[in-house]
Amino acid sequence: MTSVFLVTGGSRGIGAATALLAGSGGASVCVNYVANQKAAEAVVSQIEDAGGKAIAVQGDMAVEADIVRVFEACEAALGPVTVLVNNAGVVDTEGRLEEFSAERIARIINLNVTGALICAREAVRRMSTKNAGRGGAIVNISSMAAPLGGPATYVDYAASKGAIDTLTVGLSREVAMEGIRVNGVRPGIIDTEIHASGGNPNRARDLAHTVPMGRAGTAEEVAEAVLWLASDAASYVTGTTINVSGGR
Ligand code: NAP
Repeated sequence: MTSVFLVTGGSRGIGAATALLAGSGGASVCVNYVANQKAAEAVVSQIEDAGGKAIAVQGDMAVEADIVRVFEACEAALGPVTVLVNNAGVVDTEGRLEEFSAERIARIINLNVTGALICAREAVRRMSTKNAGRGGAIVNISSMAAPLGGPATYVDYAASKGAIDTLTVGLSREVAMEGIRVNGVRPGIIDTEIHASGGNPNRARDLAHTVPMGRAGTAEEVAEAVLWLASDAASYVTGTTINVSGGR
């Protein structure tokens, strides 16, 4: 049976690397994006050029109606989703909590937490053997910010990823008997464009010296862990979150 991956935020960074690795392994891939259609289409083209099947579907993963629509579009084009990679996430500028507006905090929580919960809900509704689904896997993209807390950087973002770690544990136990495994990956400092959106494009390089391995990681290194957790090779693994952080 061909795996069908839905990668939220699959147009750039860790999501794009995950989509490409899944596609190169023979999976069909739905590449979700919110704004950057060109980037999403480039990921789709790379998968197609390598002989795979993929589609790009726009949708804001902080909006329930968009999430449902993306699942439906994915299913209509590629078949039932067998792997959800709950990856779309945002940071904001660095600072102290006392400086953060309610709007900023809400933007982070709405996408990183509420959106991820609704995406997982839609996956369970479709995958659960209890609902006549065929089972599947969910991989939640957390962050090392969750255990480290992001002090004087972005505790709101770190807290959102703490919620993701709890989602992984709780949901994995809730659906363990229904053919669904739920795991997570905690990337450390990974060289992607997310740091530019947080106001410091050089953040990954600037902080490389704080990593025991002395360097930032790549999106591809994170994707390897995601693909393993999603695969049958991890058939007895659920409720676990793997650190991909160079020892940080
Ligand atoms: P990135 O390079 O900034 O890419 C973000 C992706 O998410 C893009 O594909 C973007 O789509 C999409 N996206 C943003 N808002 C969205 C929304 N509302 N709905 C749907 N898609 C949306 O980020 P990244 O570094 O790859 O991060 C991916 C995940 O890893 C995030 O959850 C992040 O918190 C986590 N993480 C990253 C690091 C790191 O150091 N990079 C470390 C720990 C955890 P468009 O292209 O359309 O804008």
